[in-house]
Amino acid sequence: MDPHLRNARTTDLPPPALDGELRFDQATREQAADDFGHLVHTEPESVLLPGSTDDVAATIRWAAKRGRTFAAQGQRHSVWGRSGARNGIVAAMSTRHSVGRAVSDRIVVGAGTTWREVLAATLPRGQTPPVLTDYLDLSVGGTLVVGGVGGTTSRYGVQSDNVISMDVVTGTGQTITCSAQSHSDLFDAVRAGLGQVGVITEATLELVAAPEQVRRFVLVYPNLAGMLKDARLLSAGAGFDAVQGAILAAPTGELSFQLDVAKFFTGSPPDDDVLLAGLSDDPAGRMPGTIAYVDYLERLAGLEAALRGNGQWFHPHPWITTFIGDSHVESLVDDELGRLDPATDLGKFGQIVLSPIRTGAITSPLLRTPSEGLCFAFNFVRVPTTADLGDANRLVDSNRAVYDRVRNAGGALYPVSAVPMSPEDWRRHFGSAFHRLDEAKRGFDPDHVLTPGYDVFEGVSRR
Ligand SMILES: Cc1cc2nc3c(=O)[nH]c(=O)nc-3n(C[C@H](O)[C@H](O)[C@H](O)COP(=O)(O)OP(=O)(O)OC[C@H]3O[C@@H](n4cnc5c(N)ncnc54)[C@H](O)[C@@H]3O)c2cc1C
Repeated sequence: MDPHLRNARTTDLPPPALDGELRFDQATREQAADDFGHLVHTEPESVLLPGSTDDVAATIRWAAKRGRTFAAQGQRHSVWGRSGARNGIVAAMSTRHSVGRAVSDRIVVGAGTTWREVLAATLPRGQTPPVLTDYLDLSVGGTLVVGGVGGTTSRYGVQSDNVISMDVVTGTGQTITCSAQSHSDLFDAVRAGLGQVGVITEATLELVAAPEQVRRFVLVYPNLAGMLKDARLLSAGAGFDAVQGAILAAPTGELSFQLDVAKFFTGSPPDDDVLLAGLSDDPAGRMPGTIAYVDYLERLAGLEAALRGNGQWFHPHPWITTFIGDSHVESLVDDELGRLDPATDLGKFGQIVLSPIRTGAITSPLLRTPSEGLCFAFNFVRVPTTADLGDANRLVDSNRAVYDRVRNAGGALYPVSAVPMSPEDWRRHFGSAFHRLDEAKRGFDPDHVLTPGYDVFEGVSRR
C-alpha cells in the first residue's frame, strides 16, 4: 500500500467485539515496545490479548481498515524489534497456549505455547518434538516463522520442517488451515517466512519417541582446525545425535575450542570407545557424563540463572547468528577471531557458537543456508557487561560488518539476529526464494499489514 494512502485511511472505526481484550494503557504498550534485545523500541497503539483465533482475524481486519500494521508477539525474544509494530497493534500470543492431547505421532498446540510447555505434555507419554531450540522458553509460533535450529537439526531439519499443519490468519483476516497437502503455498511461505503472510494461531507438531538418557561429552581442542576436523567427522557419522561447538575466551583472552556431543539412549548405555573412535581431541580433557534427557534439554539453565543473578540477562543483546559453508568456514572464522577483542566483543559470559549442520535435512524453502551439504552455525553470543546502549550499538555495527563478510563468503543470515536489514538486503538474502515470498505477500497480505518489524517489503516502516 502507498504509505500516503495508509495515513488517509479512517482511524476512528471502533474496535471489533472480542472474546479477549484490546488494551490501550501506557504500561501495557510500553512493555510490548521492548524485546530481549533492548535495542529497538516500537510502541504499538494497542495490545490485543486474543481470546480466540477469531479475535486475531477480526483485529487484523480492523487494523487493515484503519491503515495500521499488526504483529504477533510470542515470548518477545527477538533481539532487533522484529515483533514490534510502531503505532500498530501487537497480539500477545502467550494467551493462545493450549496443549491438546498427543495422539499417535502428533500434538496440536496453540501458537503461543512455549516449547517447555509442549515438552511438559509430551514427555510423560514418552514423546518429544524431534528438534528443540537450545532455549525452551520460546513460543512455537515465534520459532516456526524463523525456522528453529536445535542440536538435532542435522538429523531432523529445523522446527518448521517438523510441523504437520497450521491454522493461519492472513493479512486480509482470513483463517486458513494449511499443510504440505492443502494450501501448500501458504504453508511454505509461513514456515521460516518471518511472519510476512500470516499469523499462526495453532500448529500440529510431529513427535518422535523420547530417549530417557543422554551420554554427553565435552571435547576440547587446542585450535580451530582440530575442532573443525572432528566436527566434520562427527557430523558425517551416525554416532552422536547432537554435535554443537563453541569458542570460549579465558580472562587472559586465550581462546579454547570445544565440541559438546550427545548420544541419546534408552536402556543400555552406548559404547564410548565406538562413539569416540578416530577423534583427535585431548582425551584427558573429556568430560563424560550421563544425564536424563530432560536435564540435557535444560543445559542453558545454569547460564541463564548466572546472568539473571548478575543482571546481565537484562542488558542489551546484540547477537548475530549466521550460517557459513564448510568450504569457507576455517578461513572466515580465523579472520573473525583475528578481529575479535573477547573482553569487549563477547564479554566474560559470551561465546562464539560454531556448530556443524548437515543442510540435507532442512526442507523449509525460505530458510536460507549455504548451498553446501555441510554448513556451520556461526553465532556471536555477546553478553555485554554494561547496559550501555552506545556500546551495544557499536556491536550492532560490528554485526553488520560480520554479516557482510559472511555473505561475501557464500553464507547466510539467520534472521533472528541484531542486524539492520533493508528491503534490498532481504531480497538478496532470500535470493531465488524471494519470488515465493513476494507472490505469497501479494496474495495473502496485499496491504502489507503484517509483521513490519523486519522491513522485508517496501512500504510503511516501523521506524
Ligand atoms: C535466549 C535465547 C535463546 C535462543 N535460542 C535459539 C535456538 O537455540 N535456536 C533458534 O533457532 N533460535 C534461538 N533463539 C532465537 C529465537 O528462536 C527467535 O528469536 C524467535 O523468533 C523467538 O521466539 P519468540 O516466541 O520470543 O518470538 P517473538 O520474539 O515474540 O517473535 C519473533 C517473530 O515472530 C513473529 N511471531 C511470533 N509469534 C508468531 C505467530 N504466532 N505467528 C506469526 N508470527 C509470529 C513476531 O511477529 C516476530 O516477527 C534464541 C533466542 C534467545 C533470546
